[in-house]
Amino acid sequence: MERILVSACLVGWPVRYDGGAKALHHPLLTAWAAEGRLVPLCPETVGGLPVPRPAAEIEPGVDAAAVLAGEGRVVDADGGDHSAAFREGARIAVATVRVRGCRFALLTEGSPSCGVELVADGRFSGRRRAGEGVAAAALRAAGVEVFSATEVDALAARLAETARDD
Ligand code: SF4
Repeated sequence: MERILVSACLVGWPVRYDGGAKALHHPLLTAWAAEGRLVPLCPETVGGLPVPRPAAEIEPGVDAAAVLAGEGRVVDADGGDHSAAFREGARIAVATVRVRGCRFALLTEGSPSCGVELVADGRFSGRRRAGEGVAAAALRAAGVEVFSATEVDALAARLAETARDD
């Protein structure tokens, strides 16, 4: 059975920076949970950050690959540097997909860890820019196919294709 790494906040875990969740109410997610396919993980909390925690953003002009390489930072609005925790969370996410055999991930869009196509602009303006989160980038680099919460149907189609091929 194909397992799916999923951002823990999407399945209702209250692990976001503000202590909330971002539960995704989708019948396919409910079905996958019932089948035992889902592997929930919050890269930021497993990386050592508390709940709640200051909102953090990847600095302007920097991408996730640079953060992973130690050449860019993830900071809060007061300038606090949380880059090491983000890198550790990404490392644990990759270790988890290897141990659990996940070829797919379903992640929360816009997050500095989990963002799939978008992240905050790095200026705490409320605006987003094109880019991926630190854990999402590490997962992609490890060969995981990454989907956002608006792409559940596309993920289901890939699962069906994979089941035919295996
Ligand atoms: Fe959700 Fe990912 Fe942020 Fe954790 S790091 S709260 S799983 S978006």
